[in-house]
Amino acid sequence: MGWLSGRAAIVVMAVLLGGAAASLISTSALSVLFGGAIGAACAAAADAARGLRVLRWLNHPSDRDAPRDAGLWGEIAYFAERALRTHERIAQQEQWRLAQFLAAMEASPNGFLLLGANDRIEWCNAVAAEHFGLDPQRDRDQRVTNLVRAPAFVHYLQQGRWEESVTFPEPRGRGTLSVLVRSYGDDQKLVLSQDITAREQAEAMRRDFVANVSHEIRTPLTVLAGFIETLANLPLSEVERRRVLLLMGQQAARMQTLVADLLTLATLEGSPRPPADRWIAIGRLLAQAEVDAAALSAGRHTLQFERDDAVQVAGNENELASAIGNLVNNAVRYTPDGGRITVAWQVRPDGAGELSVTDTGIGIEREHHARLTERFYRVDSSRSRDTGGTGLGLSIAKHVAQRHGGELEIRSEPGKGSVFRIVLPATRVRYLEPAPDPRKLAADAA
Ligand code: ADP
Repeated sequence: MGWLSGRAAIVVMAVLLGGAAASLISTSALSVLFGGAIGAACAAAADAARGLRVLRWLNHPSDRDAPRDAGLWGEIAYFAERALRTHERIAQQEQWRLAQFLAAMEASPNGFLLLGANDRIEWCNAVAAEHFGLDPQRDRDQRVTNLVRAPAFVHYLQQGRWEESVTFPEPRGRGTLSVLVRSYGDDQKLVLSQDITAREQAEAMRRDFVANVSHEIRTPLTVLAGFIETLANLPLSEVERRRVLLLMGQQAARMQTLVADLLTLATLEGSPRPPADRWIAIGRLLAQAEVDAAALSAGRHTLQFERDDAVQVAGNENELASAIGNLVNNAVRYTPDGGRITVAWQVRPDGAGELSVTDTGIGIEREHHARLTERFYRVDSSRSRDTGGTGLGLSIAKHVAQRHGGELEIRSEPGKGSVFRIVLPATRVRYLEPAPDPRKLAADAA
């Protein structure tokens, strides 16, 4: 109430001062009254000017500070400014929180799409925009079902039962999406999307793999079961019995090879990357491969092994032996009698190591090249099986090469032959210290 009495005092003072000033000029009561009125008018004008300043500031309060006047207008401006600044601070904090929240949603690997009434798009993060093929700015307020027309999605959104997610092809046709809807607020929806392409592919691969393994095992098992029945029910001569046992042995060996290859693959997938500091003499690996190739070829091919005993490679000896063994084994199996098989090692100018297995065999049509390293992929199934193939050899070789930071290169032409190369990075290849020169040693000793 202080400001009220202050204002009243100012008005009274102005009236008195006006009256006093008028009485100096004339002593008539009228002129004193007139002087008082002028004083009151001056006080009102000053007051109006202060009020106007406050009003002007209230029009654009954010641009500058409130006028610092004394009295009623000063106090009004002061309280208005304080309330305003508090409000601004709260609004800023809220905005910051919202920005943080949206940034967190943006950082999510999943898609977030917020829908308002009538499924109109309110907001979406970049991942959801990518999943649904939306433009977050341009498509705001659009009905989502006008833009995302996948029937499974539209049906799912409209039916209103969202306990389970729905799966459908990504609108841009690049993969598979899994979408889950949750309702919230006032007829609003949160649409969560996830790209499950890789998961689906892995699942399909797993199914194929199980189907392939079952298929591979079923054939020798059926043959074995047939032979067992024959042995049990038919009176066989000694020669027939031996032949049946021989065939049974072959089928059992086929299953053993398959199981061994499957175990190799499982080990490759489940173990850490080969060490980069365990050095193996490449000559030793090739020597072993040469013995195996000679046994498999049994003199039907010309075998040439070009060894370099001065080089070592870093990695897992068993894995590398298995990869080289598979390539050499294939070369022998897919090269007709009289053909030539060359296994060579060389260090490329960039320091990378290259082990090549070249044959003059049947070769492979170009269209098969990209799929050769897929599990159980065969160009000619009967030839592969007849020669004891499992369809896993190249898959193992590629896996080993990649685990060593390298790759498997394939060149092949039908009727001319093939070259399979395991290329290892320079970091996994080193030259052995050259053996000391005995003459130099003798000279040093003297
Ligand atoms: P498989 O056990 O059937 O030989 P691989 O994975 O080792 O399985 O090879 C896949 C397929 O690639 C083989 O079935 C064969 O058709 C073809 N192939 C592999 N190596 C050679 C080669 N040296 N010459 C011709 N064809 C080959």
